[in-house]
Amino acid sequence: MTQKHTPGPWAIRDCNRFEGGEPVTEIYSTVTDEVIANDQTYYPQAVKPQNARLIVPAVNAYEELLVALQEIANTPCDHGPGYCARDVARAAIAKTVSPQAP
Ligand SMILES: [Zn+2]
Repeated sequence: MTQKHTPGPWAIRDCNRFEGGEPVTEIYSTVTDEVIANDQTYYPQAVKPQNARLIVPAVNAYEELLVALQEIANTPCDHGPGYCARDVARAAIAKTVSPQAP
């Protein structure tokens, strides 16, 4: 009965939950619109354990993974058209830019 984390991609948005209230910055799923976390200290959004187990290892491995991906992206290859790990690495690197709501 392992529940999965909230489906991604996740994004960041600033919104006003209450008229005249402080703007809220929140991380949410672009698939389900579920809020994963926000910046409110007086009414924090609880983080599901499944999401916490995704967030912590991703953050802890971030720097090393980015260096590895950059190395893959910059490695020459000559296998012709088709699947290329460099393209996958470049696409993943592009996703490291913090996504904002459209
Ligand atoms: Zn290649």
